Amino acid sequence: MSNPREEITFLMVKPDGVKRGLTGEIIRRLEQVGLKIVALELQKPSRKQVDDHYPKAPNWIHRLGEKTLATYEKFGFDAVKELGTKDAGKIGIMVRKWLIDFMTSAPVVIMAIKGVHAVAMVRKLAGNTMPSDAPLGTIRGDFSVDSAAAANREKRAVFNLVHASETEEEAIHEIKHWFGKSVIHDYDRTDDEVFK
Ligand code: ADP
Repeated sequence: MSNPREEITFLMVKPDGVKRGLTGEIIRRLEQVGLKIVALELQKPSRKQVDDHYPKAPNWIHRLGEKTLATYEKFGFDAVKELGTKDAGKIGIMVRKWLIDFMTSAPVVIMAIKGVHAVAMVRKLAGNTMPSDAPLGTIRGDFSVDSAAAANREKRAVFNLVHASETEEEAIHEIKHWFGKSVIHDYDRTDDEVFK
């Protein structure tokens, strides 16, 4: 297990965040809690790059479909009427394609972020995947309004401003995938003095 202070994670400002000019606000929130940005870049991803970023495992795809079915149930929509099926696996495949369409629609800002429990902290700052369920005070809760029910009716992915790695292993994999050979920097924030 690595040192919790040295944990590193990956965050991406998605096309909706970049186009709405929220990159600065998102960076401000990360820095405000004491996390430090160790790599930062604007990129226009290819379909392959996004396709390789999101898992292809059937259980991950199934989970995407289940998120749709859960919000359809919550808001009283009929999946068969809207999407032609209530099979979570089939819906997951549709959602994954919409997600690639969305993620390649404009540039994204990628970041590697280091700090105390960085993975969990950044997920907490991002908030729930569905903006309709994300608490106020989180990035998604404060700046977005969307749900799978709304998005899938328009045959698109949920616009939720950011992607953040779920685990440290995923973060390491994603940093390598997005930054390739670019240098990940390191430096002491003045806050680091507090821990010494
Ligand atoms: P998170 O981004 O919070 O880790 P997931 O990994 O489950 O969430 O999903 C990846 C992305 O796919 C989400 O951030 C969102 O943009 C989109 N998404 C997830 N589920 C759905 C869905 N049911 N319908 C449309 N888009 C979805």
